[in-house]
Amino acid sequence: MPAEIIDGKAIAARVRAQIADEVDVFTRRVGYPPGLATILVGDDPGSAVYVRGKQKASAEVGITPFSETLPQDAGSDDVTDLIERLNADPAVNGILLQLPLPGDLSETALTGLIDPAKDVDGLTPVSAGLLALGRPGLRPCTPIGVMELLASVDAQLEGAETVVIGRSNLFGKPMAQLLLAANATVTTCHSRTRDLPGVCRRADVLIAAVGRPRLVTPDFVKPGAIVVDVGINRLETGLVGDVDFEAVAPLARAITPVPGGVGPMTIAMLLRNTLQAAVAQARS
Ligand code: NAP
Repeated sequence: MPAEIIDGKAIAARVRAQIADEVDVFTRRVGYPPGLATILVGDDPGSAVYVRGKQKASAEVGITPFSETLPQDAGSDDVTDLIERLNADPAVNGILLQLPLPGDLSETALTGLIDPAKDVDGLTPVSAGLLALGRPGLRPCTPIGVMELLASVDAQLEGAETVVIGRSNLFGKPMAQLLLAANATVTTCHSRTRDLPGVCRRADVLIAAVGRPRLVTPDFVKPGAIVVDVGINRLETGLVGDVDFEAVAPLARAITPVPGGVGPMTIAMLLRNTLQAAVAQARS
C-alpha cells in the first residue's frame, strides 16, 4: 500500500482556524486580544522572512503582533533592555527572540531572560525543566507540531519504538521528552551514533532533524514505519528534507513531505502557545 502523505499544510490550516475561533472567544471574554512580540536583531534576510510570516499568521488569527527590531550592531544590553520591557508589558503575552542572533550575542543567555510565562518558543531553561519533569508549561513549537502530525495518522506511541535523529535543544531533546511522556520507547541519535541505519531500522516512528539532505535512505526504515522529516535544506534545486522522500515513501506507512509537512505546523503551534500563555496570564 502506498504511504499516506501527511499533509502538514492542511492540518496546520485546520489548527489555525480553530485557534482563530478560540482567540475570538478569549478576546470577547477578557476585553483585549492576545499579543505576540517578535524580536529581530540584525538584517539577516532569512530571519526577516520568518518573522514577517509569524506576524502575518498572528494577525490572521486575531493575535496582535508587536514587531521589535534592533540593528545588526545591537549589544547585549540593548536586547536585555528590550526583553525586560516586553516582559513587563501586559499587552504582550508571548515573546519570541528570532534565532540565530548576529555577532557574539549569547542566544542561551538572552533567551533565558524571557519571562517563562511568555516563553512561547518554549526554549528557556524553566520551560525545558518543566518539560523534563513532566509538569505543565510552554513546549517548543516544532516538537509539539510533530506530535499533532503523529496524532493525525493515529500513531500508537505507547510502547512503540521511536527514534529521533538529532539532539538539539531546539528540537531533538524536547521531541524525545514529548515521546517519552507519551509512553514511547525513545532512542536519540546524533553524529556519534554507531550504525545509524541499524538503530533507525528499529523504529516504528522515525523522526529526522539533522540538516543533512536526504540522509535517511531506505536502509534506515523498517517497512510500515511512520517517517517524519523535520530537516530543511536549501539546495540549488529547491528545498529538501533529511529524508530521501522518493526512495523512502514506498516503504513507509505514513511520511511527511518537505516542504508542506512539519514546517507549517511550527507557526500554528506558536499561535497556540501564544493563546495558551494569554489564557494563563489572564487567570493569574
Ligand atoms: P542542529 O542544532 O544543527 O542539530 C543537528 C543534530 O543532528 C545534532 O544533534 C547533530 O549531532 C546531528 N547530526 C549531524 N550530522 C549527523 C549525522 N551524520 N548523523 C546523525 N546525526 C547527525 O539542528 P536543529 O536546530 O535541531 O535542526 C535540524 C534540522 O531541522 C535543520 O535542517 C533545521 O533547519 C530543521 N528545523 C526545521 C524546523 C521546522 O519548523 N520545520 C524547526 C527546527 C529545525 P551532534 O549533536 O552530535 O552534533
